Amino acid sequence: MAMHKDPVCGMHVEEKDAAARSEFRGKTYYFCSSGCKEKFQVNPERYATETAPARS
Ligand SMILES: [Zn+2]
Repeated sequence: MAMHKDPVCGMHVEEKDAAARSEFRGKTYYFCSSGCKEKFQVNPERYATETAPARS
């Protein structure tokens, strides 16, 4: 089972349960809802930097 993190809201989404998905720079992102996908697509660069857990 493949779990993915919804980069917009931070929820963990199972691949088969993902409501939406989007590709950005060759990576596929999964979303809990189409609303999260829309937010991602407005500004993918803002959300696609999940490698650095920046906490202020
Ligand atoms: Zn979400």
